[in-house]
Amino acid sequence: KKWVYRFGGGKAEGGVADVAMLGGKGANLAEMASLGLPVPPGLTIVTDACAWYFENGNTLPDGLKEQVLEGISAMEAETGRSFGGSTRPLLLSIRSGARASMPGMMDTVLNLGLNDETVQALGHDAGDARFAWDSYRRFIQMYADVVMGLDHEVFEEILEDEKARYGHEYDTDLSSVEWQHVVSLYKQVIEEELGESFPQDPHVQLWQAIAGVFSSWTNPRATTYRSLHRIPEHWGTAVNVQAMVFGNLGSSSATGVAFTRNPSTGRKELYGEFLVNAQGEDVVAGIRTPHSLTEEGRISSGSDKPSMEKLMPDTFREFKAICARLEAHYRDMQDLEFTVERGKLWMLQTRSGKRTTRAALKIAVDLVDEGVITQEEAVSRIEPPSLDQLLHPTIDPKVERVVLGSGLPASPGAAAGEIVFTAEEAVEAEAAGRKVILVRIETSPEDIHGMHAAEAILTTRGGMTSHAAVVARGMGIPCVVGAGTIRVDLRNEQLLCPGGVILGRGDTITLDGSSGQVLRGNVPMIQPELSGDFGRLMEWADKARRMSVRTNADTPQDARSARSFGAEGIGLCRTEHMFFEGDRIQVMREMILAEDEAGRREALDRLLPMQRSDFTELFAIMHGLPVTIRLLDPPLHEFLPKSDEEITEVARAMDLEPAFLRRRIDALHEFNPMLGHRGCRLAISYPEIAAMQARAIFEAAVAAARSTGEAVELEIMVPLVGLRSELDYVKDCIDRVASEVSREAGMSINYLAGTMIELPRAALRAHVIAETAEFFSFGTNDLTQTTFGMSRDDAAAFIPTYQRKGILDEDPFVSLDFDGVGELIRIAAERGRATRPSLKLGICGEHGGDPASITFCEQTGLDYVSCSPFRVPIARLAAAQAAI
Ligand code: ADP
Ligand code: MG
Ligand code: MG
Repeated sequence: KKWVYRFGGGKAEGGVADVAMLGGKGANLAEMASLGLPVPPGLTIVTDACAWYFENGNTLPDGLKEQVLEGISAMEAETGRSFGGSTRPLLLSIRSGARASMPGMMDTVLNLGLNDETVQALGHDAGDARFAWDSYRRFIQMYADVVMGLDHEVFEEILEDEKARYGHEYDTDLSSVEWQHVVSLYKQVIEEELGESFPQDPHVQLWQAIAGVFSSWTNPRATTYRSLHRIPEHWGTAVNVQAMVFGNLGSSSATGVAFTRNPSTGRKELYGEFLVNAQGEDVVAGIRTPHSLTEEGRISSGSDKPSMEKLMPDTFREFKAICARLEAHYRDMQDLEFTVERGKLWMLQTRSGKRTTRAALKIAVDLVDEGVITQEEAVSRIEPPSLDQLLHPTIDPKVERVVLGSGLPASPGAAAGEIVFTAEEAVEAEAAGRKVILVRIETSPEDIHGMHAAEAILTTRGGMTSHAAVVARGMGIPCVVGAGTIRVDLRNEQLLCPGGVILGRGDTITLDGSSGQVLRGNVPMIQPELSGDFGRLMEWADKARRMSVRTNADTPQDARSARSFGAEGIGLCRTEHMFFEGDRIQVMREMILAEDEAGRREALDRLLPMQRSDFTELFAIMHGLPVTIRLLDPPLHEFLPKSDEEITEVARAMDLEPAFLRRRIDALHEFNPMLGHRGCRLAISYPEIAAMQARAIFEAAVAAARSTGEAVELEIMVPLVGLRSELDYVKDCIDRVASEVSREAGMSINYLAGTMIELPRAALRAHVIAETAEFFSFGTNDLTQTTFGMSRDDAAAFIPTYQRKGILDEDPFVSLDFDGVGELIRIAAERGRATRPSLKLGICGEHGGDPASITFCEQTGLDYVSCSPFRVPIARLAAAQAAI
């Protein structure tokens, strides 16, 4: 079996099409090599070898070593160096690289091949002993961490001590002798801590490091990252073995990272940071403050450190040209890593860059304008759930801000919360329903859980490409980094701000991730502007989609915001919500408690005008768009008081005996209200309720038609139908009221009568029910509940256990169960349409806003999806992507 694929010298054995096999990093290194870009030669061990490694007791497969050694011979030939050689030694980097990018989650070892002899040769060779010992100490630290399991902190402590002893501020200040001493201390601490010495044989180092990188696939932070991003465990990582190039070879050497466009705003500008005389992760680790790549970047960040453009103009020009070429080749914004060794540029990585949603929209729209991609491609490139970021509030520009300090605007949006200083606290607070801001000096992959739980993140160190910044942008949460004027005092759990302001744990602050400001208290915010790039992309999405998108809205306010998000009608208006407001509940209670029909009618007469005015307002907002109104669904006892106190109070207000009230409540008690006296069952027991609602709806429709001149497209929906006869009964009642109102108003009223499909029986008998129903709306919350026989109010007690034990992958109340519930939907759609080809089909459960479920709806041929107002843009985009 071929375990190893080579790249270098202007050619490669694989390319970007082979990501599954070579991992993202390997595939793109191969691609860059084939393009003739300056890539240090190397080889990629395929991802299959990782699976093999874990299945076979952490061993490497037969033949792999031979193939790796052959590849190394080729690197030796190309570089004119020899691995483990006592002159011109070849050093290697051993780099992880999975199919999906998992930035910083797995391990990398640099400078492999150094030992007490080769370090001398390397120094001699380069004419720079400091460089050689600097490389050696880095190698020992990384190797000890990745392979020997010794935490990097012990090494950092030693280095801090030595720096202090020699009186140096920066790592780069250490001389070769001083580094040599640090190396001896490093080796000593390894022996003390582990009882074994640092391996000197480069081949031992090589095989151990490869195994170490495979093992890093299952380290806790990688595992957490995979579960957050739904990356399958079995994918495994590839391993890239590559000739080293050196950015730590003095002042004409450097290492850096770049984005071909600004990852925060999407602006077309080369964007990034670099450090002279540095290696590997120095730029992101915040060891020294990095420099900007461009002059423009330097000026806008207010830095006095010279840019790469200024310091190394020729290399910069070459780099800029390569960036443009890579962007054109991949037809997307790239995130690049590079190193300059004594003026010679080397490309070490390229991939599609992570970006904020705002940047993603701008880049997609710009690429269309530049003629690089089509409108449909642009639509396909935006992850629907990410639109949520844009719908986040920003700080109201009109309110006064009390600025505590500021840092870099690393991830946009604003959020307020209580200060916490550890990831654990953030997780606990979120679980307790509190909103928190995670404040750290800097974050590391161990903090991932806490970052997820926080509303926003503040760090006092680090740049735009620091861990906190990258992760927050990916998660779509606001983030401010490098707020250097603020100090974090972890011991006393305090935030020390300029001007002597001290805040403690639990104090509320607001972060503005768009300006970088840290503000005192909970600052008022406003809703975002939905025009510009967002508007254009959504227009293209609307052109591409087949299904329409409606909203679930019960109040005028919901309806208005849904309209502003582009909803094309109301797919579900739950009328019961209208009875809870203000003193209406009082009248509702009188209706429920009435002893006879006459009493009920009297209360209903008072409810009628209230309902009518609600509908009138709703119809006016929806201006001729379809509106689906569901008749009263929940059991009546939901409207009655529960605690003793409430009962006494209500009894007094209604002039009733508390004992009488309690008897009525007891009589209405149900053992299983979800499956009890609710939905159409109520309308059948008390047809006067349905009649009142129908009258309110029709009278409002008449009023709306008169005032706007536009007739609403009315759909009246009967809930919880299992039998056609149930629907027939209620529909008769609706039709009767319709002809009464029509006669009274002297105008005809058009409407459809239909039903929710939320019981398995209804789905199975759809062909019969469709003889009466003119539309179906899949109520997938109840349909999931009734199909699984799982109460959705009680499922939280066991679904997480199911997921942990691998019995269920996903919560079926969140993502539609395609196999079971989906099968019922398919059956109902098919049978219903067989009876009535014009049958309108929609979905109105929570799933109507879930992209995967929306794809299913497209495939099943539904006419529309309906979701909560804030999910409307997501649904529009997801519906477009499903149709493309
Ligand atoms: P990650 O996936 O965490 O970004 P990488 O494999 O990209 O890890 O390695 C991290 C850094 O190590 C790179 O950004 C680069 O600076 C440095 N590096 C990796 N390979 C080489 C090499 N062959 N020569 C010089 N530096 C390297
Ligand atoms: Mg990298
Ligand atoms: Mg229901």
